[in-house]
Amino acid sequence: MNLHEYQGKELLSSYGVRIQRGIVAQNADEAVTAAKKLTEDTGTGWHVIKAQVHAGGRGKGGGVKLAKNLDEVKTIAGQIIGMDLVTPQTSAEGKRVHQVLVAEDVYYPGDNEPEEYYMSVLLNRGTGRNMIMYSTEGGMDIETVAEETPHLIFTEEIDPSTGILPFQARKIAFNLGLSGVAFKEMTKFVTSLYTAYVKSDSSLFEINPVLKTSDDKIMAVDAKVTLDANALYRHKDLAELRDLREESPIEVEAGALGLNYVDLDGNVGCMVNGAGLAMATMDLIKQAGGEPANFLDVGGTADAKRVEEAFRIILKDDGVKAILINIFGGIVRCDRVAQGVVDAYKNMGDAIKVPIIVRLQGTNADIAKELIDNSGLDVMSATEFQEAADKVQAVLA
Ligand code: GDP
Ligand code: MN
Repeated sequence: MNLHEYQGKELLSSYGVRIQRGIVAQNADEAVTAAKKLTEDTGTGWHVIKAQVHAGGRGKGGGVKLAKNLDEVKTIAGQIIGMDLVTPQTSAEGKRVHQVLVAEDVYYPGDNEPEEYYMSVLLNRGTGRNMIMYSTEGGMDIETVAEETPHLIFTEEIDPSTGILPFQARKIAFNLGLSGVAFKEMTKFVTSLYTAYVKSDSSLFEINPVLKTSDDKIMAVDAKVTLDANALYRHKDLAELRDLREESPIEVEAGALGLNYVDLDGNVGCMVNGAGLAMATMDLIKQAGGEPANFLDVGGTADAKRVEEAFRIILKDDGVKAILINIFGGIVRCDRVAQGVVDAYKNMGDAIKVPIIVRLQGTNADIAKELIDNSGLDVMSATEFQEAADKVQAVLA
């Protein structure tokens, strides 16, 4: 589960990580109130107005702007709230902005130039250990840094039994070229950052940029936080931070029904039991010249009610031109699934306007095929994988 920048920063701050301070606002007036409060608390005269959407690259899309007085705060916040922000990480339609973070300006001039670094904490799946990835090249696309100057990206693996050790924090500060106050600040920053990552059961922290201010403070200016959804049961407070407006409405609805559904761009809807078979089915659709419109794992029970729910979810997507049902009847018998498909189809009246191909394999597959073939509905049966692919190809042609 992804958090907004402002939520991620609050999480970091609660573990002692220094952050660029800010207050979230839902409209231009709230933004002005927030800016006044920030000036009282921090003494800042300038503010940055930052769109809060689940997408990076906001700066490039015009979603991060500097305001030099309260009038500008009001104008800019008014412009950003309600806009459809397009960034390199969104679709061409962009993401609607519902709120902004009004933050203190931390790029103020001083003895030194402010400097930006990159830092993330994530799992190295190869070694099964968490690692801290960091670079002197902050503020830009880390993918570009990885491509053009890979030697400027460092990693530090953390032993889960000890957590981050003091020498590791010092090594990171050293590799970033820091000394004096900034060096000490950085060791504290990475140590609390790592603690926050572990304690919150996160699966990704990406802080880009980490800033060294002109007076040598180290702080998080941005925060991308992804929590491990499977651990949310032990973080009730964090679970509440979910913002459904940021998620695909169909996925939210499917999730509430207990269906494992991921919305995709293609033209063939699929209904499958088991994630592995669902993946194989998507490959099959591609080979047949189609594109999967979704990933959908209906799970163990594929009775009429469940099949009907899955049908309704799949058909919410206008792009769907055919539906492929691919079910392996192990514990659930194929004839029961077939009956479920027939009942659901009849129940839905004329809601189904696209051809349906059903492949049922496993216990009682032959009875299931008969049931489908004798139903008199616009449903085609298949027993073999290739046969199903051929039928998909035929209906798309
Ligand atoms: P992203 O574009 O979605 O990654 O959003 P960031 O939070 O990383 O902000 C984008 C850019 O805005 C940063 O790289 C900075 O250059 C700039 N920025 C952020 N905070 C401040 C600030 O306090 N003052 C100034 N002048 N620029 C800022
Ligand atoms: Mn950023």
